[in-house]
Amino acid sequence: MPDTLERLRAILAEVTDLNRATAVLAWDQETYMPPGGVQNRAEQFSTLSEVAHRRFTSDEVGRLLDEAEAANAKLDFDSDEASLIRVTRRDYDQARKLPSELVAEIAHASSTARPHWQKARHESNFGLFAPYLEKNVELNRRVADALGFEKRPYDALLNRTEPGLTTDELEAIFDELKTAIVPLVADISRRAEAVDDSVLRHGFDPDQQLSYALETVTKLGYDLERGRQDISTHPFSIAFGPGDVRITTRVNRDFFNECLFGSIHEAGHGMYFQGIGRNLDRTNLWDGASPGVHESQSRLWENLVGRSLPFWNHFFSSLQRTFPEPLKGVDAEAFYRAVNKSYPSYIRVEADEVTYNLHVLLRFELENDMLEGRLKVRDLPEAWNETFKSYFGLDVPNDREGVLQDIHWSFVGFAEFPGYTLGNIIGAQLMEKIRSEMTDLDHQIERGEFGQLLGWLQENVYRHGRKFTPNELLERATGRPLTPKPWIAYVRKKYGALYGLRLDKD
Ligand code: ZN
Repeated sequence: MPDTLERLRAILAEVTDLNRATAVLAWDQETYMPPGGVQNRAEQFSTLSEVAHRRFTSDEVGRLLDEAEAANAKLDFDSDEASLIRVTRRDYDQARKLPSELVAEIAHASSTARPHWQKARHESNFGLFAPYLEKNVELNRRVADALGFEKRPYDALLNRTEPGLTTDELEAIFDELKTAIVPLVADISRRAEAVDDSVLRHGFDPDQQLSYALETVTKLGYDLERGRQDISTHPFSIAFGPGDVRITTRVNRDFFNECLFGSIHEAGHGMYFQGIGRNLDRTNLWDGASPGVHESQSRLWENLVGRSLPFWNHFFSSLQRTFPEPLKGVDAEAFYRAVNKSYPSYIRVEADEVTYNLHVLLRFELENDMLEGRLKVRDLPEAWNETFKSYFGLDVPNDREGVLQDIHWSFVGFAEFPGYTLGNIIGAQLMEKIRSEMTDLDHQIERGEFGQLLGWLQENVYRHGRKFTPNELLERATGRPLTPKPWIAYVRKKYGALYGLRLDKD
């Protein structure tokens, strides 16, 4: 029944256009909009998202899906058509399960809670935020109930972001990570002085950092014919379609890592967007497979490529020509060591590659404890500080640097943190497979050649968009489901060498 699919595609194209128009407005708000624009912009967002939501959740889409499913039952699972019907059905059912009163209540609660969270954080006083968080926990719970779950409420929330993954599976993966990282972090802390990163604070001209970063991401494969880089407080990437995928960065004269690695990170997201098949354009399939898979690409390019020794063996001489003063007497290896310094710190967004996952584990555990009623919101700071101490060996000095640091709990968005750690794990799992097929990868990187690596990722990950769940994608790309083992092996080897650790088992 070709007409059914045609009609469905036409509606999805309209919804996609509306969402992309919203994205352009969001990009503008974060980059160039004057402060006075906030109120009007909020109205525009609300109108556009309301129209898109109504269009997508209409009875007509439900009818077309029913017809399309009946007429196309025999299609190959991997085909674009079967995938479009399957994924749209999932999105449609989830969107329809949330009653509009609950959606409105969530929007209202989030906008109410945010200023109280800001004030509480500013004054480092959790009590000011506690009643709003209590409300948000209750709303998260109601979202989970509305979406439905078999075992744990977190399953329902996780299924929206990382379809196919259960809380129990994630818990097992996180336990394996914890067992490996906690002692590694302790070992690294004991040998903190083995890596000196003072060179990163020698003062790097901001304009030159920006142009160097842009030049670098272009060499990696970020296409400026279909992209651009601007400045924003928090770097992000955003796509308006295959022909326009933008990134932002920030720059700090006294800390080199922010601009270059921020740019590489966002360019990783950007190259993913730029590589999604044009055949999937203007449908629900034109996006990353999940936040975790998206993050695997930013982190693969930022950490597994950008923070590797072969990378600096290639780039350091041009970096030194660009910044002769701050880099006087420094060599590629010393610089490689500096950009990889690891240390336990209080703030998640400033954490390094090794310690980062512990910040995520902590939040994952506490969100589950609150959702399942084991932890009362008023006891949250104490639970935070206690767990933090056991993971990092540090006493949290105040709520601002502890439980109040992230914006996430000020809106009703539990289950968003795991994507960051899944990104690390998936990136390493893909890289292990890539290395088994491209045995001279390090030499290619050393020569500044990234085309073959990008080609592999485009072929095995990017072009599929959202056709497959994270596990379906990993099975196809690497031959096995999600596993933390490659990431654990990677950090143990890399940081063992950097810090001169004697690690007994592998
Ligand atoms: Zn990211």
